[in-house]
Amino acid sequence: MIYFDTASSYPILPEVKKTLSEAFDYLYANSASSHFLGEKVNLEVNHVRGLIADEIGAYPSEVIFTSGATESNNIAFKSILFGNDIPADKKHIITSQIEHKCIFSICHYLESLGYEITYIKPNKQGVISPEALKNAIRPETALVSIMHVNNELGTISPIAEIGEICQQNDILFHSDAAQSFKKVDIDVDELNVDIMSFSAHKIGGPKGIGAIYIRDLRNKQLMPVIHGAGQEDGLRGGTVAAPLIIGFGSAIESFSKHYDKFKQIKAKEFLLSELEKHNIEYQINGGVGSLPSCLSLTLPLTNLALLIRDNEQYFCLAQGSACSSKEIEASHVLTAIGLTREQAEKTFRISFPLDVSNDNILNLVETIRKYRGVPTFAKAHFGRPSPSSRQKLNGTD
Ligand SMILES: *Cc1c(COP(=O)(O)O)cnc(C)c1O
Repeated sequence: MIYFDTASSYPILPEVKKTLSEAFDYLYANSASSHFLGEKVNLEVNHVRGLIADEIGAYPSEVIFTSGATESNNIAFKSILFGNDIPADKKHIITSQIEHKCIFSICHYLESLGYEITYIKPNKQGVISPEALKNAIRPETALVSIMHVNNELGTISPIAEIGEICQQNDILFHSDAAQSFKKVDIDVDELNVDIMSFSAHKIGGPKGIGAIYIRDLRNKQLMPVIHGAGQEDGLRGGTVAAPLIIGFGSAIESFSKHYDKFKQIKAKEFLLSELEKHNIEYQINGGVGSLPSCLSLTLPLTNLALLIRDNEQYFCLAQGSACSSKEIEASHVLTAIGLTREQAEKTFRISFPLDVSNDNILNLVETIRKYRGVPTFAKAHFGRPSPSSRQKLNGTD
């Protein structure tokens, strides 16, 4: 099996696995306990807090551990808006049409409470322009949330400029950095960010742990996301997940070494040159300045749905459209940058594993060649081909 879905989640790095195992074995005490072992665990937790702070040019006191970027995004909206720092009459939020799904879910909830949300459209490259933001700002805008790197396209938005506009207008600026952390340089001051979300499993750390940066946290009055016994500055109750945090720290320390090695392979360039060599028509979505590890491709002359279905045991790939029980739903990101539903159906995201080999890529290209011009399967059968039809189509070469 070849795993081309690291934008969804990376496998655990070997260093992290070792660190996790040691933490589970030896650092099992509650970090709030005042005995020797508890204090030792607390020191380790705060060491990782310091690592994150150093990475992003913040103070450790501005970093809170969460269960992941989804929770961090929830805090960024709810804890901030329901806290005492935002005037009650400021009920307008600006975000974009290409955010992670969890942002829409939070926004829909806020809409039900009377908030108004403006969803900015990206340009064709999948980038949010500062101009578009300027036009959306109102006197009652409380928060702007624009992701740093998009998870479907790998594109990087100019958040320093976006943050500057927010600063000039005295609006808090949040950015979801789940995809950019450790892959793009981050300095919260240079990027003019007030709040930022991070996730460990997008850099080879364990799932279920992440962090949020909140500028000047100690002087803010925020609504706890989990009411509890005072952990994490009272913002998020519950025993601190020390082993996961320590694993997150190990990922922060070891990811770059692997990623730098990965970048030398030039996997994206190699894949594209192979497609060209075999005259396979393709279109890159959101091409300019995207991450080297993520590529969104539309293959207009390839029967992609069939390719993915037939080879589901062999390649892990993310499709540009998801087949729900009733109909095919195109990705909101792809439609926001102007793709039609048909184009989205012929689109997939390749996000490379750190140890991808040329052979892995050649294998994928070889498979794509096989599905060139295979007639589209009748719509009525889209759910899943019967065993007999699958056999027949597998034979089409
Ligand atoms: C993966 C991802 C998330 C969700 O992160 P979790 O840690 O799994 O909650 C949020 N935003 C973006 C951009 C992501 O890529």
